Amino acid sequence: MLEKVLIANRGEIALRILRACRELGVKTVAVHSTADRSLKHVLLADETVCIGPPPSAQSYLNMPAIISAAEVTDAVAIHPGYGFLSENADFAERVERSGFTFIGPQPDVIRRMGDKVAAIRSMKAAGVPCVPGSDGPLGNDADENLRIARDIGYPVIIKAAGGGGGRGMRVVNSEASLLSAINLTRNEARSAFGNDQVYMERFLGNPRHIEFQVLADHHGNVIHLGERDCSMQRRHQKVIEEAPAPGLTEEERRRMGERCVRACQELGYRNAGTFEFLYEDGEFFFIEMNTRVQVEHPVTELVTGIDIVKAQLRIAAGEPLPWRQEDVVIRGHAIECRINAEDPKTFAPSPGQVKLWHPPGGPGIRVDSHVYSGYVVPPYYDSMIGKVLAAGEDREAALARMSTALSEMVIEGISTNIPLHQEILSHAAFRQGGTDIHYLEKRLRL
Ligand code: ADP
Repeated sequence: MLEKVLIANRGEIALRILRACRELGVKTVAVHSTADRSLKHVLLADETVCIGPPPSAQSYLNMPAIISAAEVTDAVAIHPGYGFLSENADFAERVERSGFTFIGPQPDVIRRMGDKVAAIRSMKAAGVPCVPGSDGPLGNDADENLRIARDIGYPVIIKAAGGGGGRGMRVVNSEASLLSAINLTRNEARSAFGNDQVYMERFLGNPRHIEFQVLADHHGNVIHLGERDCSMQRRHQKVIEEAPAPGLTEEERRRMGERCVRACQELGYRNAGTFEFLYEDGEFFFIEMNTRVQVEHPVTELVTGIDIVKAQLRIAAGEPLPWRQEDVVIRGHAIECRINAEDPKTFAPSPGQVKLWHPPGGPGIRVDSHVYSGYVVPPYYDSMIGKVLAAGEDREAALARMSTALSEMVIEGISTNIPLHQEILSHAAFRQGGTDIHYLEKRLRL
């Protein structure tokens, strides 16, 4: 096993990684900004290193500071968590060049999947279905671009190859605005991502977001852990996730899971990863691959019994996967509500001191959070302060447990989106399952 792991992240995921390390007897190094001295995992870690002032650019995105911290503490590996440097191929490369193990895939695979045009090309080659589109980056020939759009059929979406976090996309409803939309997206992409490549896809009207979790070791073994439905989104940010996806058949799961596994084998993929798809009228369309652990990974853990973060550590240590595909059994149903420090109506961030923190409990409930009574939520970072998960023998049982859990949760001192979750849980459409990615925003506009 890895002797000592540096956790290059903060908040709930840093605590999640610390817990996995402890279970495996791995020593931990927490790095933190000056605003994060009292983070729970910083208080619990074997060693801590302050890596800079509050702004992420100077701390959690500060590669030299993080690598120096690994050097002075004799860590052997770095876990990047999600966000921050987790999908930064240059960081992964610098980590490995400095002699540490990067807990994630190889830098060149991260780079390829981070370029959406290259990612789509790899997926097509591996037989993964993609959204009908431009088949590569758009050139500057106006007539050719108009022809491509006509062939795809309006509406189309122009997307930046280097885009991420829901940015760098523009929907075009008719020919009149196509060329200006391509130019605008190209200019934005150049300044935001330093890459002006853009491509075109058919814009799907009412898809669901369904993603597949994979695990791959260093010995060529790859398995999938089924799917998650993350259609409940606001501004491309997931709000509620669940596993399995309501209504998906065993046959669909097997077929898509196998395609993802095959794609990983062809890419020589290693560690944990997620294939994101839009799902419409019974068809899957690949949109992107995340080469890291995801916020919503626990719903998969709850229905498979597989600890994904421990698996990441074991894979990085060179251990072969202890499971074959037939060992993976999806049992029951799990739901996750992301708890954000924000106003439930205006969505304005609500940092400050948490005067009282009473997380829920009982059968089937899991709370992943770094918050405790007295903890001060700093204003500098993402507003997510934790996740409440509920598992049950079926979706209805999981929903009932989630409602009970949220009703007994007490958070005083800051505002949270718990009222929004309670409202969504009461919607007949959500209770029925299978709502599309536009559902929540449409409801919020009512
Ligand atoms: P990002 O990396 O910024 O998250 P994605 O490619 O994953 O970008 O797309 C983010 C979201 O944009 C999707 O979840 C979906 O809501 C919307 N989207 C992207 N491509 C399409 C498409 N072809 N049709 C409809 N919606 C799309």
